[in-house]
Amino acid sequence: MDYRYRNNYNMSMKDNLAYIKKMGVGKFIEEQFKKYRCSKCGSLISIHNRKCFNCDAITKLIDKTNRRRNLIKRKTAK
Ligand SMILES: [Zn+2]
Repeated sequence: MDYRYRNNYNMSMKDNLAYIKKMGVGKFIEEQFKKYRCSKCGSLISIHNRKCFNCDAITKLIDKTNRRRNLIKRKTAK
């Protein structure tokens, strides 16, 4: 974890706490839930990489096919 990231994280934690104090925990959770929902399918997304659990499976699959295609390309080029 680099310093800048840690600093930003602490900053947002402070902001969150301030928000909870101001608006109440219920409102905060509601807002977080809205924030961490996929705009495409409405599923919950990962807090860590902001990727949708639902859509990311498709993303991964596309990634895998692309990588395989690149491997084939490399093989035929040689
Ligand atoms: Zn999604």
